Amino acid sequence: MFLVILPVVFSAITAVELWLCWRQMRYVSSRRDAVPAGYADRISLAEHQKAADYTVAAMHTKIVGSLVDLPILVGWLFFGIAAAKRAVDAVVTGPLLAGSLLLVAVMAISAVFELPIAAYSTFVVEARFGFNKMTPRLFAVDWLKSQALSLGLVFALSYALLWVMAHVAGLWWLEAWAGFLVFVAAMMVAYPLWIAPLFNKFTPLSDGDLKAAVEALLVKAGFVADGLFVMDGSKRSSHGNAYFTGFGKAKRIVFYDTLLEKLTVPEVEAVLAHELGHFKHRDVLMSFTRLAAVSLAVFWWLGVAVKAPWLSAALEVPHSDAVGLIVAMICLSPLGVILAPLGNWFSNRAETRADRYAAGMTGGAEALSSALLKLSRDNASTLTPDPVYVVFRYSHPPVPIRLERLRAAAS
Ligand SMILES: [Zn+2]
Repeated sequence: MFLVILPVVFSAITAVELWLCWRQMRYVSSRRDAVPAGYADRISLAEHQKAADYTVAAMHTKIVGSLVDLPILVGWLFFGIAAAKRAVDAVVTGPLLAGSLLLVAVMAISAVFELPIAAYSTFVVEARFGFNKMTPRLFAVDWLKSQALSLGLVFALSYALLWVMAHVAGLWWLEAWAGFLVFVAAMMVAYPLWIAPLFNKFTPLSDGDLKAAVEALLVKAGFVADGLFVMDGSKRSSHGNAYFTGFGKAKRIVFYDTLLEKLTVPEVEAVLAHELGHFKHRDVLMSFTRLAAVSLAVFWWLGVAVKAPWLSAALEVPHSDAVGLIVAMICLSPLGVILAPLGNWFSNRAETRADRYAAGMTGGAEALSSALLKLSRDNASTLTPDPVYVVFRYSHPPVPIRLERLRAAAS
């Protein structure tokens, strides 16, 4: 029964994903022939059409990705987990070591399956639109480094989790959840300080007009001044961006060098003010709190499901905590799609608040609006996304909505 229900649920989720992509392609394509009203003086028809074509190409990649993911997920359930378990058990003994290696093996094999699509996206789609700056060598080095890192973390985390499951009676999942939150908080400090620098170079902003303007703004916002960095994003892609991350001493605002190249000093100031808006509104803490709530539900489910004998009996795999964990987590995979609108709603609200803060800090909506429009143009983001697709997939409001809200807030 169980083995029939899950593939049906996964297929339904895949159908929703395909439907969303199809909607987005149809909506964007049908608006490809004219620049939306009010933007004709800032966006040329060629730029508008490039954004439409880039969106459609990205949807094609997503569709292939969803279609490939479905048989992989079902394959794990029907024979993959059992085969991986046999292979691991043949090499190592001891439930903790064998269990955590099983989780590592499943992750590693899944990552290999996803590799062709990542390569296609980088070297075909991104390259076709002039965004890719990565050499195959850098791509390979990045992949190996990130795999080594994430598999190492998966090994450590699953070893710890299996230990808790074996040694804590009763509410083991509650202790595991607390441990998980400590890990996430530690990663929020470790990521900007030690992990991100493994992939990119971060340099403090150099002296000049920009730095003077930026420092004045930081003082005005009450932000610790040494948390401002420029990242060499240009080594991988010409997409420009900025972000705010971490907390305490590890908090920082990062500008991609590609963003600084494209924007004027007042525009960079406005983007910085937006990031400071996230700092002012404690958005990192807010998203940590939401993660704590969601993960509590996830760990509760693990507590219910992992040790239930029906779970692995359905798969005809000898029961073990590790097998239970993998199957229980596979069962949760549809949740990502279902919960995405809620997560996006919170994120969109935070973005709108940060935009409003930026407008207040920089004396109006002008600079931020022109920065957002320039970035949207240079990143080939479509100005006409499908509203339903936006609900499911956009963590930021589409640029036309951001500009409208900025105008409304300014008047
Ligand atoms: Zn933001």
